Amino acid sequence: MDRIYLSPPDVGPVERDLLLDAFDGNWIAPLGPHVDAFEAEVAAFVGDPSALALASGTAGLHLALDLVGVGPGDDVLVPSFTFAATAFAAVYLGARPCFLDSEDRSWNLDPALVEEELAERARQGRLPKALVTVDLYGQCADHDPIVATCERYGVPVVEDAAEAIGATYRGRPAGTLGDIGIFSFNGNKIITTSGGGMLLARDPEQVRRARFLSQQARDPALHYEHSSIGYSYRMSNLLAALGRGQLRSLPDKIARRRAIGDRYRAALAGVPGVGFMPVADFGEPNHWLTVVTLGPDAGTDPVGLCGHLGRLDVEARPTWKPLHLQPVFAGAPMRGGAVCETAFREGCCLPSGSAMSDADVDRVIAATLEVVAR
Ligand SMILES: *Cc1c(COP(=O)(O)O)cnc(C)c1O
Repeated sequence: MDRIYLSPPDVGPVERDLLLDAFDGNWIAPLGPHVDAFEAEVAAFVGDPSALALASGTAGLHLALDLVGVGPGDDVLVPSFTFAATAFAAVYLGARPCFLDSEDRSWNLDPALVEEELAERARQGRLPKALVTVDLYGQCADHDPIVATCERYGVPVVEDAAEAIGATYRGRPAGTLGDIGIFSFNGNKIITTSGGGMLLARDPEQVRRARFLSQQARDPALHYEHSSIGYSYRMSNLLAALGRGQLRSLPDKIARRRAIGDRYRAALAGVPGVGFMPVADFGEPNHWLTVVTLGPDAGTDPVGLCGHLGRLDVEARPTWKPLHLQPVFAGAPMRGGAVCETAFREGCCLPSGSAMSDADVDRVIAATLEVVAR
């Protein structure tokens, strides 16, 4: 039996053809027509914003925070319950991530805590330079109240939609819910370019500036002239070709991941102590990963379940360890914490790749049923 991975790449003949087109046209040297087309296609997919293809989602976060003016000594508000890259980007700019807890109904940033935090900071005259929202496991955060609060205090919102391309919030696409949004096309995401990312913004001037910075900040001149610090963050034409093929099948991939999640739910929902990541009614997730929760009477915990599945050649992972509990962020400010700590203690991500067969899903279910209480 083959190993079942958590979320492996799912590519096919369309991607192969596009990749060979880029190769055969000798568009190897970094940029090229597939990059332009991929940017236009992703921009069209999410509506009007302009898009910039990048080497990674983390590069997108770094540029986004740079664009909104984050610099040394600034504070940036970040949910604690996310992948570390969300907070790393602030640190690259010399800023300090300050963490906030999640809300129960979506596991994403709690709008009430954002309100509390900004009101307190406004009184003390120390507003953060930016707030980053995260659309965890492909479910959007409750952006309307968060964005309204941030607008009231003049705090820009960067949306880390790395995991959420294809999800919607009140009918609006993930990636467009803040001032600037980013996607990731890392190998484990719902669509992949093996490694890559995209930055989106409503203001085309911001994308123009990000494009400039992402190509080593070369001022217009025949020689190499620089009046800003730049980065080498562009996506290669070869990888953009792959991304174009992936984007075409995104709706199918979302449908398949939803069906996989439904299959897990149908088989496990009745088991004592077993539940699933909450899904709020304000949006439609892209179902990137199915997350099972193991309460105190489930008979096992995420470490036990991942260990058991691992021995049966099935990859499962605990949910993101909250960043305020990470050694590298020891001592960072944190508001609340009970919600994300429980989600970490009880949450386990099950294999959810869109290429999984029903038999693969059933194998994971059978293995899970061996260790949970029945
Ligand atoms: C994957 C991920 C990133 C980083 O994206 P890369 O393309 O791997 O740099 C950032 N934030 C979140 C929430 C992610 O899941």
